[in-house]
Amino acid sequence: QWKGYATTPEAEKVAKFKGQKGSDGKYMVTLIEGDGIGPEISQSVKDIFTAADVPIKWESVDVTPRLIDGKTSIPQEAIDSVTRNSVALKGPLATPIGKGHVSLNLTLRRTFNLFANVRPCKSIAGYKTPYNNVDLSLIRENTEGEYSGIEHVVVDGVVQSIKLITRAASERVLRFAFQYAQDIGKPKVRAVHKATIMKMSDGLFLSIAREVSKDFPNVEFDAELLDNACLKIVSDPTPYNDKVLVMPNLYGDILSDMCAGLIGGLGLTPSGNIGDECSIFEAVHGSAPDIAGKGLANPTALLLSSIMMLQHMGVTQHADRIREAIFKTLAEGRTITGDLGGKAKTAEYAEAVIKNL
Ligand code: NAD
Repeated sequence: QWKGYATTPEAEKVAKFKGQKGSDGKYMVTLIEGDGIGPEISQSVKDIFTAADVPIKWESVDVTPRLIDGKTSIPQEAIDSVTRNSVALKGPLATPIGKGHVSLNLTLRRTFNLFANVRPCKSIAGYKTPYNNVDLSLIRENTEGEYSGIEHVVVDGVVQSIKLITRAASERVLRFAFQYAQDIGKPKVRAVHKATIMKMSDGLFLSIAREVSKDFPNVEFDAELLDNACLKIVSDPTPYNDKVLVMPNLYGDILSDMCAGLIGGLGLTPSGNIGDECSIFEAVHGSAPDIAGKGLANPTALLLSSIMMLQHMGVTQHADRIREAIFKTLAEGRTITGDLGGKAKTAEYAEAVIKNL
């Protein structure tokens, strides 16, 4: 059983879904379609949700950045929508490289304090990769580390970029990781770090991990250096199947893309950005400008993210039904997109999933 996000009562203590059903029995969910392939893959999710009669109503919002007092801001309507609905599905948002506005993805995570990024990475039956039994769970700290955006020029030719690690954010994500391990039935948590080099920052993360582990006596805890973890995971990921891996921001970003490669690429890996008040679910991949507008994108990663979202909301029957239809379609292998070696267009794949519902 593919379990993206746990929905046990214990999990609710970590990230409680606060949305309310309307008088029509449906939940409102904020939809940020995003850039590049975002609108195409969002359309697939909308079509499949309609066909499966999922009890939600989409509230589409625009997040085109606004500059207020020199700072990138998300339009207030979008903030209000996510706050009101407490859950959102988001397509990829492009970030200009080296100049221009700060990442909207980061702004969203900071605005809503989405402190834990949950990235499951599981083999898809029927899609052959060197290892067909991968079942990795990565939790990435989502608000600080190297992504704090604190950079400045010291003198010409010298730039400083601050990696920020705080006790508060580390403890919060580490507690989440231990609780998540319990909820999805994994016996071990492993912290991934470089405390040999970043003795103070990663050292603090690691020492808090040890402290927090004492509150979870039923979960085994250990730690591993990032470089060693990369080497071992690509050599054979299966010994990592019984662990939840938790790590500072940048390491989680890179390691999860590497793990996506083990199961068939970025078209297949979902994620959830979890906060106390609201949560935003999105694919791990970006806006894929090289294939945008051509109907070639694989919507599976966003679809699996939408299934994590439904699990989080407790709409589990619909989540199970759609998930089974996706896996059946991929296993049949007749109507799959180009990234998986097929010839199907995005909409044809979505049609095939609908037929398998
Ligand atoms: P990318 O993930 O967009 O693309 C990397 C490669 O994977 C490309 O060859 C692309 O065609 C392919 N790919 C990605 N998703 C796919 C899908 N669903 N189906 C088929 N192929 C797919 O990474 P990039 O090119 O480095 O980034 C493009 C833009 O996306 C940048 O502006 C970046 O900042 C942004 N980005 C956004 C997010 C996010 O919104 N969370 C995440 C990563 C990157």
